[in-house]
Amino acid sequence: MAPRDHAMPVDEPMTSADESLVDCRDAALTFGRGATAVVAVHGANLRVRPADRLAIVGPSGSGKSSLLHLLAGLEQPTSGSVTWPALDGPGGIGIVFQGDSLIPALDVVENTALPLVLAGVPAAEAQRSAAEALALVDAADLAQRLPEEISGGQAQRVAAARVLAQAPRLILADEPTGRLDHATGGHVLDALLTAADRTGAALVVTTHDPAVAALLTTRLAMRDGRLLTVAEPQETS
Ligand code: ADP
Ligand code: MG
Repeated sequence: MAPRDHAMPVDEPMTSADESLVDCRDAALTFGRGATAVVAVHGANLRVRPADRLAIVGPSGSGKSSLLHLLAGLEQPTSGSVTWPALDGPGGIGIVFQGDSLIPALDVVENTALPLVLAGVPAAEAQRSAAEALALVDAADLAQRLPEEISGGQAQRVAAARVLAQAPRLILADEPTGRLDHATGGHVLDALLTAADRTGAALVVTTHDPAVAALLTTRLAMRDGRLLTVAEPQETS
């Protein structure tokens, strides 16, 4: 096993070859200003490396989505910095958004291929990559179905495949099991973990469910916009 503390917000000296996919330093995110300002994220420190399997656990409103959007470069930090030392900007990041939904008029393989098609990949190649990604999350048999013909758990696996088809080096998944029962949620997370292993991507998952967080290698807690480390149980093997 790789050392388990590498996703922790510790301050290490910079090395010449920084392999961090994301380096978040005292990054804060405030919405609004003045009396109505909401500090969604207080100075968060976090580094994500290629082999990381990281859970960010916290209740609704604790700032999980806001932090994920900072990591993805979708929001600019109000103070502090977010950089992607080993990536060419945030472009190599795939996101499964909270409540991700599929386009009703497109079948599953078309939904999965859509970001590639929009990025200019030729249709046949996009379909082939989409089919491979669906197989990785054990959803190959759903390829020709419409979104209304699949379950919530299957839809979340397809949302994961849609990200995987883009071959990201970092996968950010925002409550991918949020609306699912425990067994189905576990299956979705297994799919994400398997896919990350197979593609060599790092994985960051937000969740309010400790049982989901337990399936990841490292856990960090989010409370009222603050990112905290969690005491890890001793490794027994
Ligand atoms: P979580 O994902 O853990 O439920 P969020 O990151 O969505 O938490 O929200 C953290 C806090 O920031 C909440 O108080 C929420 O109301 C607020 N917030 C989130 N997005 C916005 C926004 N676009 N404008 C204003 N406030 C926001
Ligand atoms: Mg959220």
